[in-house]
Amino acid sequence: METLSRGLVALSLLGIGVIVMALVLPDPGGLGPPPPPDAAVASVTAAVTQPLVLVALLLAAVLVLSSTGAAPSRPMSAAVSARLPPVPLTATTPERVTLTREAIAATAKDSSSGEQLLDLLIEGAARCGASDVHVQPTATGGEVAFRVDGQLEPMLALSHLSLRTLVNRLKVVAKLVHYKSDAPQDGQFSTALGDGPVDVRLSLLPTQHGEKAVLRLTGLGRQLPTLDALGLSTVEHAQLLRLLEKPQGLLFFTGPTGSGKTTTIYGALQHLRAVRGGNAQVATIEDPIELALPGAAQTQVNRGTGLDFASGLRAVLRQDPNIIVVGEIRDAETAAIAVQAGLTGHLILTTVHADSAAGVFNRLLEMGVEPAILASVSLASISQRLVRRLCPHCRAPHQPTPDEARRLTSAGLATQAFFRPTGCARCGGAGFIGRVAVFEVLEMTMPLREALRGAPSTQALMALARKDGTVPLLEAAVARAAEGVTSLDEAFRVAG
Ligand SMILES: [Zn+2]
Repeated sequence: METLSRGLVALSLLGIGVIVMALVLPDPGGLGPPPPPDAAVASVTAAVTQPLVLVALLLAAVLVLSSTGAAPSRPMSAAVSARLPPVPLTATTPERVTLTREAIAATAKDSSSGEQLLDLLIEGAARCGASDVHVQPTATGGEVAFRVDGQLEPMLALSHLSLRTLVNRLKVVAKLVHYKSDAPQDGQFSTALGDGPVDVRLSLLPTQHGEKAVLRLTGLGRQLPTLDALGLSTVEHAQLLRLLEKPQGLLFFTGPTGSGKTTTIYGALQHLRAVRGGNAQVATIEDPIELALPGAAQTQVNRGTGLDFASGLRAVLRQDPNIIVVGEIRDAETAAIAVQAGLTGHLILTTVHADSAAGVFNRLLEMGVEPAILASVSLASISQRLVRRLCPHCRAPHQPTPDEARRLTSAGLATQAFFRPTGCARCGGAGFIGRVAVFEVLEMTMPLREALRGAPSTQALMALARKDGTVPLLEAAVARAAEGVTSLDEAFRVAG
């Protein structure tokens, strides 16, 4: 109805423009006597102004039409206006979380509409750099928590009414079935913040107290990662740069969900674009696209239309890129196409699900890749984990406990001084600020290539890789702990 009326307004504006032009346009034939000077001025003025009138009317019509055209693709939720007081730019993440929690509690009311609540939470999540928003129903109503740096931070308690209002609003904006609350539902929507669009993937799941909603936020004012910001050690950094100089081959990344693989890959792409400039023709096939990468052709896997990694990769190859990101290799078909592409002048960055860097090769052999081909096309396999970064303002010296000393010794590592978290105002009492990645980089060498041709066990391959310089994940993590970047606890937690 609204679209129709806007269309009519636009059409009538166009019509008026045409009529005005017909009425006042000077006689184009110029057959009559020359007009008197003042009339000449008038007709010149008319000649100048009529097109202006027409242009103005056309512009108005276009504006009206384009606003109707934009409506369906834009979310129902309007742009989020600044409702929360600003957070100082110098605030650390824990300080942001505390300030945002206070601000949300002061702003959210039981009488807030679903739209207001949702906008408030998304704006708050943006301020904290949260990756997810959890809305958990409880016996007394609901609780909202943000996932920030991998940790869930409680943000707001909701009444039964507010919870229902919020969930209903989510169903509207994500176009889910409104009356259904006894089955899982997935959807997505976009909304706008001051610094750009936010894409939200919504998942609803029935629980004993009502529907639990999890919002995964992407493109949320997040800075594109750079290799420098990943927390690579100097040696790893140099190693990765060397690997990225290769014109062709496969670079594998592995690690559990949430271990920062995508961040590393985006960082690598940023580096490639910086050093290769216009020669970096980057194409990606991802699920999901987590960040917009300027200058890259990014394609989203879409099972609904049969666009999977294999068909997507095949299509991407026809577009002649030289750097390709394959979100994940998990089937024989994708593996075969990726290997072929790696042999024919493409640098491929991809993830493979495996327990360790060395384990990636056995996964690919299981997918039917020929050992000899895998040996020649592989550049390196990188396993990574995220550890919490110790707050530099309050970390304190730590001597390993007898148990820790025993674990270090059994891993062949020296028992030395480390650091532990204590907690201060700068880190919100947590003792940690943000996270850094630790890496196990298995770079292909001639002896490793030779060995891989014989399809060795993962253990045998890793033993050989250690001789050739690969630092095991635990050793790398303990080294970062010895530097004071993280705690020994964290090193054991992710790699022990
Ligand atoms: Zn601190």
